[in-house]
Amino acid sequence: MNNKKRINRTRSGWLMAFSLLFMLLSACDTSSKSVSPTPTQAVSTVVVSQTVTPFTAPTSTPASTPSPTQTPEPTSTVVFLEQAVCTANEYVNIRERADKNSNVIGTLPAGETADVTAYGDDWANVFYNGIAGFVSKDYLIPVRKPDIDVPKGDWAAVLVNPTHLLPDFEVELADFEGGQVDARIFDICAVMFADARADGVDFVLVDAYRSYETQNKQYQKKVDSYVAKGYSVKDAEVKAATITARPNTSEHQTGLALDIVTPSYTKRDKGFAKTDAFKWLNANAQNYGFTMRYKADKQEYTKVIYEPWHWRFVGVKAAKAMKQSGECLEEYLQELE
Ligand SMILES: [Zn+2]
Repeated sequence: MNNKKRINRTRSGWLMAFSLLFMLLSACDTSSKSVSPTPTQAVSTVVVSQTVTPFTAPTSTPASTPSPTQTPEPTSTVVFLEQAVCTANEYVNIRERADKNSNVIGTLPAGETADVTAYGDDWANVFYNGIAGFVSKDYLIPVRKPDIDVPKGDWAAVLVNPTHLLPDFEVELADFEGGQVDARIFDICAVMFADARADGVDFVLVDAYRSYETQNKQYQKKVDSYVAKGYSVKDAEVKAATITARPNTSEHQTGLALDIVTPSYTKRDKGFAKTDAFKWLNANAQNYGFTMRYKADKQEYTKVIYEPWHWRFVGVKAAKAMKQSGECLEEYLQELE
């Protein structure tokens, strides 16, 4: 992903704009072409995969000296290269020129999507909320449906449940929406959240990566709550584990699981399934490689209660297959007890 991003960013915006114009002129079905599965080709087809929306230049024509020759006026139509999401913590400044000392003419809030019209070495020309200006490329990632695929059995298919303890592994974490995720899924998470927002659905990430210590603390807290209700310690442990996983049996320790709610419903309970946020996830999450991990009818395999808020990254191929078959991860991987 990083490699692709880097390559994208160093490509000449003019070249891309030119190819895009050419495609607009020569083809009327550019948006239906699919992204090629190989990384190098994916880079060269990135413009094709975007919805191409010409728009009229938002700024008024600068006062110009009369042209001494009869050369035709430059076109007044700017073409979007692509859309990009702001990955800053709060917002990033939109500046008048590609210069960090130039005037700030607006801001692009975190998680919002801007139209990118060209890329320079460090800056992107963006159009956001009626403002055309420059934003540092460090805070943008292109909106692109993730084409990431992970082979069955590879890292994204790691199975963590009461009978499959977390294997020894290291995870590189990235900060995301107030939590942390496996850095390999950061872009996908950002795009999924931005796409949902574009559809009018806001997500709140309440939990993602948890360390062993955090998981242990939460589990012990749950055990204590049952002991306080009169359960024996042993029974309390068994009961607690169906709700809060024992340490090393929780997917949250992988950085691949997200607990997602929405501003109007922040509780993690089955009522979340009635929200638009859940409906969006249920309809679209598989396209971003996420699966609803703990379904109501799969508790015999997962040993975990119905959790409509818990979404697990497994890769696009696996998520789509499970969506179609209705299988849970244990069944998909045929790792049944
Ligand atoms: Zn969870």
